[in-house]
Amino acid sequence: MSYELQVLNPATEEVVASVPATTAAEVDAAVARAAKAQQGWSAAAPADRARLLRRFAVVVDEHLGELAQLEVREAGHTIGNARWEAGNVRDLLDFAAGGVERLSGRQIPVAGGLDITILEPLGVIGVIAPWNFPMPIAAWGTAPALAAGNAVLLKPAETTPLTALRLAELALEAGLPQDLFQVLPGAGDVAGSALVEHPGVAKIVFTGSTRVGKSIMARCAERVKRVTLELGGKSPNIVFADSDIEAAVAATPMSFLDNSGQDCCARTRILVQRSVYDRFMELLAPAIESVVVGDPADEKTQMGPLISRVQLDRVRSYVTDELQGIRGTAPEGPGFWFPPTVLTGLAPDAPAACEEVFGPVAVVLPFEDEADAIRLANSTEYGLSGSIWTRDIGRAIRVSRAVTAGNLSVNSHSSVRYWTPFGGYKQSGLGRELGPDALTAFTETKNVFISTEA
Ligand code: NAD
Repeated sequence: MSYELQVLNPATEEVVASVPATTAAEVDAAVARAAKAQQGWSAAAPADRARLLRRFAVVVDEHLGELAQLEVREAGHTIGNARWEAGNVRDLLDFAAGGVERLSGRQIPVAGGLDITILEPLGVIGVIAPWNFPMPIAAWGTAPALAAGNAVLLKPAETTPLTALRLAELALEAGLPQDLFQVLPGAGDVAGSALVEHPGVAKIVFTGSTRVGKSIMARCAERVKRVTLELGGKSPNIVFADSDIEAAVAATPMSFLDNSGQDCCARTRILVQRSVYDRFMELLAPAIESVVVGDPADEKTQMGPLISRVQLDRVRSYVTDELQGIRGTAPEGPGFWFPPTVLTGLAPDAPAACEEVFGPVAVVLPFEDEADAIRLANSTEYGLSGSIWTRDIGRAIRVSRAVTAGNLSVNSHSSVRYWTPFGGYKQSGLGRELGPDALTAFTETKNVFISTEA
């Protein structure tokens, strides 16, 4: 049955576009076309594939401003962030292009012959993306999958299909073969499910909620379909008394307010050693209150709206009036606005302290010593990111080893670079994206023994 997606500007609630959505039958046809295109693509000379991906990167770069503006309108991202996001797509394409000619197998010593491994593309890859970083997350799966010789069918989130559709047009403009990279906007339980259940799709790369991720993993298991999951997080920001407290405070607001907190790596559990707790809170209040929240198209804005009314209601449900803490400001009127919020006095197992809010809300919890900090940091079902603030190098290494999360940073909140691996422990995910092995995740290893005795 045909249907449409309505794209709203989250800052104004105005309709930006209506997009025809993909039906299950259309997914079926897209898989058949992609499989055909993939055969020619994987047979092409590596240098030619690399050249086309580099050209795709150049075309994205030429349209950086346009893509960024589109992201501001459909996702409410600040213009500064949106430019970075479009640049991230370009950089990923360049990085993946550099891997095409380097994607080689091995020669393993055996008696009586020659043993080699061949890295073969999987075929057609389904990339299912969320709305919080529509462009980068789409590219994290798409760029290395194409570079490794696969075709890609990308299903963007219902609320943010526009940049993905534009990227597909730019791919054709760059000269990528028709049908090799197709964008299929649509509902998760229609177009998304059709990709997950299609026997012609060899692997699903999913980024989104843990709830949907579990259901996708279960359905992929039916076919032993390959799957990568990038799911939720509730990441700690651990501030020890021996750290540079001023630096730790200065970095705290945007560690959970960037992208209005709709970031799976957001440091939303701020753990502060009790001996510096009062000092930390005293410095944090003005830092939170001065965050500039407003029109995302304005260069000075640090935080924009939430993506949708659904998300706004979800965030509100965690922040009831009687809770104590620090509240910043947000615009009144149309748009999905919520102020920067820091909650104090909560038990570590309170919903706001251990569930993923996915909004501009953090909790501060005091801890006594290193062992207590590690225990608190590990006491959620998630394990995606985390930060450790200390001047003691031994402690930095000990705590980095002890925290069960995939992406940690010391005296910084940085965790995502396209050339370093990214992914979660525990219920934050399965598998890794980005980094030196990004292309290998889109291949099967075939071992061939050639006898010299015959
Ligand atoms: P979501 O799980 O609702 O949707 C993600 C994608 O899955 C969308 O494209 C959606 O249409 C699709 N989908 C929904 N139901 C489906 C189904 N039954 N079958 C197949 N596809 C289906 O998540 P969301 O609300 O779009 O994104 C927010 C969540 O994503 C947060 O929980 C966040 O932590 C997580 N996230 C994780 C990472 C990471 O790298 N770990 C990155 C970004 C977002």
